[in-house]
Amino acid sequence: MATVHLTSLGCPKNLVDSEVMLGLLLEQGFTPVSEPEEADILLVNTCGFIQSAVEEGIDTILGLIELRKNPTVRVVVTGCMVKRYGADLVKELPEVDLFLGTEEVATIADRLRALAAGGSCAVLPGAADRFREQGEIPPFLMNSELPRRLATPTHRAYLKVTEGCDNRCSYCLIPSIRGDLRSRALPDILREARGLAAAGVKELTLVAQDLTAYGLDLRGGPKLADLLHGLLRDTDIPWIRLLYLYPSRVKSDLIALVAEQPRILPYFDLPFQHVSDRVLKAMNRPYGEAMIRELVGEIRRLLPGATIRSTFMVGFPGEEEEDLERLAAFMADCRLDHVGIFTYFNEEGCAASVLPRQCPDELKERRRDRLMALQAEISLAANQARVGRVEEVLVEGVSGESELLLEGRTRHQAPEVDGCVYIADGQCRAGDLVRVKITEAHPYDLVGEIVTD
Ligand code: SF4
Repeated sequence: MATVHLTSLGCPKNLVDSEVMLGLLLEQGFTPVSEPEEADILLVNTCGFIQSAVEEGIDTILGLIELRKNPTVRVVVTGCMVKRYGADLVKELPEVDLFLGTEEVATIADRLRALAAGGSCAVLPGAADRFREQGEIPPFLMNSELPRRLATPTHRAYLKVTEGCDNRCSYCLIPSIRGDLRSRALPDILREARGLAAAGVKELTLVAQDLTAYGLDLRGGPKLADLLHGLLRDTDIPWIRLLYLYPSRVKSDLIALVAEQPRILPYFDLPFQHVSDRVLKAMNRPYGEAMIRELVGEIRRLLPGATIRSTFMVGFPGEEEEDLERLAAFMADCRLDHVGIFTYFNEEGCAASVLPRQCPDELKERRRDRLMALQAEISLAANQARVGRVEEVLVEGVSGESELLLEGRTRHQAPEVDGCVYIADGQCRAGDLVRVKITEAHPYDLVGEIVTD
């Protein structure tokens, strides 16, 4: 059977789709290979969320095509970029043998088998939509019956609990790419979580486009709190991390639940996007600065040691200097632990793309650089306050920086997005939970040594 090399781009939600595709291909006798040169099929699961992700996708595909020495090697492109650009991609990338939309995760093995057997390659991006209209391919929703081959180290995994999004942020294309909100049934999620726990997962990171929307589409059905209670009851996973909490849906009861349950990490990922009421309104985000400040205060009151992470977008159409000053003042006052600053990009097809008073690129970049410099000081001070403390650390393994160092993360550092702890002294293995005394702080990373007493 054919060998397949898979490249997964984009966010953890896309990674879960890639893991399912890999599981299905393995089950159907395909052999995954880590080197593209060894593959009969080069599969790229793309992201189409923002322009830089699209550029990365195109570069990756072109790079793989260039590597292809043997003309019989097939190139297959799946995922959000295909959904977003459809027929344009077919025109622009004639070297690609097959494009599949996000609906086709579960049909990947059939598609690749037909392709490997020399069958028709003419499945065009629009075809998924046509099939869906005819009822042949329902929109994909993860389920625990599907085999999944983890691409993450065995001690950590993502758990995708919904697909799509019912919010309509004016800068975002996700609802048009991934469709409306679809929540998985609670027993199905718990079944998958029990399997991951049995496989040795120690950190389970819950992901969705909007995690707080879990169950809102299931009339009278479970909500996020029910899901968390179920995970606590049915598994013994020591670290349960929540990503993508929609700010206006985080209420005191959720904060109190996190405060009561040490296995739910005191980590609040709240993508505020801005604090100016005017800009938030134009973004179609239903809250303002007063609510944001109240929420940050409530988290700090109920859980003084909690980590708050956020992302902000600068250069949104109509953003004035005074809006940026508000945002800078908020960052200086509230001193969030981790902040990502992005510049607005005028994505074709977004409601915001037709708004007047678009910001010049140079100004966007200046604003981003200013806020990033401000946050670097705040993050450094927060990390310096940890020096001398002993923190629980999940060991990831040998550091990518040096073979002489190990690398891990505290409860305050999410995988892939935050910094890490370099462990300069002590013995441990990947997947161990160890106690580390922090000895040195940098803006994003920490250095420490294992303590045994
Ligand atoms: S919450 Fe807003 S930004 Fe996030 S996926 Fe939904 S529409 Fe996009």
